Order: sequence, then C-alpha cells, then structure tokens
Amino acid sequence: MSHPLEPIYALQKKDRKLIKITREIRDIPKRKGDIEAQLSGTKQKLETALDSKKHTEATLKEQELEVEVLKERVVKYKQQQMDAQTNDQYRAFVKEIGTVEDEIKALEEKEIVLMEALDQGKSIVAECEEKLGGEMAGISDELGELDDRAAELKERADKMMADRRRTAESCDPAILQKYTRIMNNKRDFAVVMIESGGHCGGCHMKLPPQVTNDARNPAKVVGCNFCGRIVYNPPER
Ligand SMILES: [Zn+2]
Repeated sequence: MSHPLEPIYALQKKDRKLIKITREIRDIPKRKGDIEAQLSGTKQKLETALDSKKHTEATLKEQELEVEVLKERVVKYKQQQMDAQTNDQYRAFVKEIGTVEDEIKALEEKEIVLMEALDQGKSIVAECEEKLGGEMAGISDELGELDDRAAELKERADKMMADRRRTAESCDPAILQKYTRIMNNKRDFAVVMIESGGHCGGCHMKLPPQVTNDARNPAKVVGCNFCGRIVYNPPER
C-alpha cells in the first residue's frame, strides 16, 4: 500500500516550484521599474538644462526688444534735436541721446554674455539627449528580456497549475485540506521528512519516538508537536 502522504509530498514539490515562479513573475514589474529609474537622473538633468535654455532665450528676447525700443527713442531724440530752438535744448538732447546709447551698449554687452550662455546650454542639452538616447537603447534590451521572461514564466506557470490540479485530485481530500491550511500558514513546507535522529524537518525539534513511528504508518497522518507540520517518514528510506 502506498503511503497517503506520497501524492501530498509530490504536490508540495509542485507547489514550491509554483510559489517560486509566481514570486518571480510578481517581481518583474519592480525590476523593470528599477531599470527605468536609472534613466531618471539623466532625464532630470535634461529637464533642468531645457528649462535653463528656455529662460536664457526668453531673457535674450526681452533684452533685444528693449534695445529696439531704446534705438527708436534715439531716432526720435535725434529728430527732436534737429528742431531744437536753443543751444540749451540742443545740449539737453545730446545728453539724453548719450544716456540712452550707454544703456544700449550695456544691454548689448549683456546680450553677448547671454548668447554665450545659450550656446553652452544648447551643448548641455545635446549631451543629455545623446546620453539619454544611449541609456534608453541599453535598457530597452533589458526591458524586452524581462518581458520575454515574464511571458515564458506565465506560460510555464499555467502548465504547472494544470499539472498541480491533476496531482491534487489524486490526494486524499481530508489530508489535502490539512495540507492547504498548513501551507497557507507556514508558506514554506506543510509536509516535512523526519530528519536523522528523529528531528522534525521543518522546525528541527526532536520528535517523540511515537510520532516518528506513527509517521511510518500509512494508516496514520501525524503532525509535529512543535510546529504542526505534517511529518512524513517514508518506509522505503
Ligand atoms: Zn516541527
């Protein structure tokens, strides 16, 4: 007579493989997230560089407009200067025009600095874009491999589930119920072999000789007095 724990023990082997595979499937999105997170540093740098470039461009545009306005003012003053009635009026325009032209000169000097900054900003953006492109190409392979792995594992898990169902059908329903309850609780093993010296294979405590003997008896299903796992002592060992 075969031991009633034999199919249960076989079921546990399948369940342990299934648990491992299910865990790996579950962890794949996180692994993908970790890989994608490596890009966030370069992405962040690119965003900062783009913001700074945009800001410089806007400031430059503002200053260019301001210079235009000032230049128009100079033209207007020069016209008014020609219509001056007195020397005092004329000199006042010379002074005004000088002040505005100084302002224009100062703004144009600032523009040169801004244009240099803009060139620098553009090359930083280009560098970041190139780096990001390379990184994205690198991770797309890794992400693709993980997607393939997930698909392969899901297929394998489906097959294993079908196989597991068949094994479960060959188990004694009462023992299967007990097994399921312990497995859900312990999450590692529900059926353990008795180790040499009569120790429980789950918690490694020394079992009473009666339990060790009963565990050999196909008519009895006994549990460890300490951890509650079903102890199995196949006679053929
Ligand atoms: Zn135990």
